[in-house]
Amino acid sequence: MSTPTAEQLTAFGQTFSGKLLQPEDGGYDEARQLHNGMVDKRPALIAQCRTAEDIAAAVLFGREHDLAIAVHGGGHNVAGRATVNDGLMIDLSPMKIAQVDPRTRVARAQTGMTWRDLNAATQEHGLATTGGAVSTTGIAGLTLGGGYGYMMPLHGLAVDAVISAEMVLADGRIVTASADENPELFWGIRGGGGNFGVAASLEYSLKPIGPAVTGGHTAYPCADAREVLRFFRDQTDSLPPGPALNVGFLTAPDDSRSKLAALVVGHCGSLADGAAVAKSIKNFGAPLMDTVGPMSYEALNTMLDGSFPRGIRAYWRSFFLPDISDAFIDVMVDAYARCPSPDTVVILEHWYGAAVEVPAEATAFPHREEGYNLLVMSQWHAPAADQANIQWTRQLSEDMEPFKRGNIYMNYLDHDEGNAVPAAYGSNYARLQSLKTKYDPDNVFRLNQNIKPMG
Ligand SMILES: Cc1cc2nc3c(=O)[nH]c(=O)nc-3n(C[C@H](O)[C@H](O)[C@H](O)COP(=O)(O)OP(=O)(O)OC[C@H]3O[C@@H](n4cnc5c(N)ncnc54)[C@H](O)[C@@H]3O)c2cc1C
Repeated sequence: MSTPTAEQLTAFGQTFSGKLLQPEDGGYDEARQLHNGMVDKRPALIAQCRTAEDIAAAVLFGREHDLAIAVHGGGHNVAGRATVNDGLMIDLSPMKIAQVDPRTRVARAQTGMTWRDLNAATQEHGLATTGGAVSTTGIAGLTLGGGYGYMMPLHGLAVDAVISAEMVLADGRIVTASADENPELFWGIRGGGGNFGVAASLEYSLKPIGPAVTGGHTAYPCADAREVLRFFRDQTDSLPPGPALNVGFLTAPDDSRSKLAALVVGHCGSLADGAAVAKSIKNFGAPLMDTVGPMSYEALNTMLDGSFPRGIRAYWRSFFLPDISDAFIDVMVDAYARCPSPDTVVILEHWYGAAVEVPAEATAFPHREEGYNLLVMSQWHAPAADQANIQWTRQLSEDMEPFKRGNIYMNYLDHDEGNAVPAAYGSNYARLQSLKTKYDPDNVFRLNQNIKPMG
């Protein structure tokens, strides 16, 4: 690493339309912080970009000075890949322009946007694309890694709606990746994350959605958790295509702070179809809370935001499982009873419908089998509680070994799961490695769930 001199930084600044932040500058501390409060790194330089040309200039500057390059989209990745100590953070968060064409139903979105930003722009026209279930998450990291969301059963993953991307490559070139231009790169970015370059903008095809859809949750005391999981299993075995139905384990937001098991639903089809699903959920058991009903698509996508405050400490484990056995239910319920933090959320997602109808080799995203994804999101506030929460999370994951299918969702990997990276790219790993060798042989983009170039 050669620390850039003041003159070199001034010269760089003259070719750069965004803002450059060093540790002594106002705004630096705010810009370096990620969603996960456990991550506390200090880049030597933060390049807040406004255009693809800014990104290209930053990549070349980082390479020239041998600075490790981190790319910050929405900064939500639990593993903290969006920042780096003593290196260069390419910060896309000022890039928030979306152009929506209601006639062709296409949106071009700059990659500093969050789902809240993009949903607002597309819903103005009664349109949407599959986005994350928490509105503060960045569109870029989520999309390039796959992208689970409420529209998935009817319309596929976020990545399935991508038509093209404007990519800044490791050598500073700006190219389009689409079915017609650089098709192999286009294949790779749809699931291969940030391994091949920096996406300056993404073009999505949109669907008519809402404005009213069906969503909400019903919550039960944890004593009923086994019945809730069995009901969830029965429902997901027999669901007509449409609802994204999940089970969540969380603590009541009221003063009782009691542990709850909740059915969480989002149905982005017609209100009539949604009402039929809502009815069967509402008729189950004796919920302590029931919010299921019509709501706006934007409200559905903010429904869980309050459970994931910025800056909370977080540590995750996740894995796919093919089915829900009674033995799994026992282990899950017993483990949650021992959970040390009231801020932790565990979600069991049902993956099915349009997302699993795409062949595994059609895009780089390989996990196209029907099943479930268990996501354990441990969260807490006090650094003194780190050890207890990390230990509980790891123990739960170990106890789950017999139920795992063996594959894992790349976007949910934490920083200490490097050995799971091949399982995250699954059957597409070898092809991704060849692509990495072609587009980034020096592994300039390595601060991600990294695919190592060959040779
Ligand atoms: C509260 C919360 C809720 C979530 N909900 C969902 C959900 O509903 N569905 C789901 O699928 N996932 C969900 N996730 C996981 C999410 O997909 C990942 O954390 C994802 O990496 C976030 O993207 P980001 O842009 O915010 O992250 P960042 O931390 O900014 O980036 C993540 C990775 O992507 C790379 N990257 C970011 N932008 C670009 C770019 N423009 N070009 C190239 N590489 C880039 C970064 O270098 C980094 O390696 C959630 C995460 C959190 C914390």
